[in-house]
Amino acid sequence: RIHESEERFRHLAQHDTLTGLATRLVLEDRLNLALETARRHETTLGLLMLDIDNFKQINDRHGHRAGDVVLRVMASRIVETVRKSDTVARMGGDEFVVLLPDMKDPENAEGIAKKLVATLSAPVSFQSREVPVSVSVGVCTGAGDELDGDALLTHVDAAMYEAKEHGRNGYQVYRPEAVQARA
Ligand code: GH3
Ligand code: MG
Repeated sequence: RIHESEERFRHLAQHDTLTGLATRLVLEDRLNLALETARRHETTLGLLMLDIDNFKQINDRHGHRAGDVVLRVMASRIVETVRKSDTVARMGGDEFVVLLPDMKDPENAEGIAKKLVATLSAPVSFQSREVPVSVSVGVCTGAGDELDGDALLTHVDAAMYEAKEHGRNGYQVYRPEAVQARA
């Protein structure tokens, strides 16, 4: 019994109930692991942060249940777009993070961001309606020796914020100078 409830508790902590994706807890753990591997093998990892555009409006116009369907559909589109070895997490609300633990070419992260923006802009069917959707994506890459997980998450968040400012439905690669300009 104790073992069963421990297992259940672990499952609840590691999986988002609505989408089945990994939770923030899992993402942070995998990110730290990936950073250690990247340090050891001198490889690069990539981080993408996606936030649904005007999601509040979707909830307001079509109802919370439609919003939930949109979250599930977006989650499965992300999973289908990336590799099995990448981690997709729902960080909370309408925000998702993808960890690309090992990239041959740092520019790959940008290519995946581009693909995600395109794939996630197809309307979502809810009842007999077609709900228009899009995402804004932040991108950053890090070689293991230069960054820690928290810094990478801060950078990717800043990049996503910039993608929003540039009109949404697009991606932005992290630029340190953009953050300094805003501070
Ligand atoms: P922006 O383009 O700037 O991101 O605008 P937005 O309206 O998407 O703003 P924001 O990302 O801040 O809004 C997130 C909203 O997501 C707020 C909250 O009501 C809604 N939300 C959070 N969790 C859930 C959920 O589990 N289900 C549904 N249906 N809505 C949720
Ligand atoms: Mg949003």
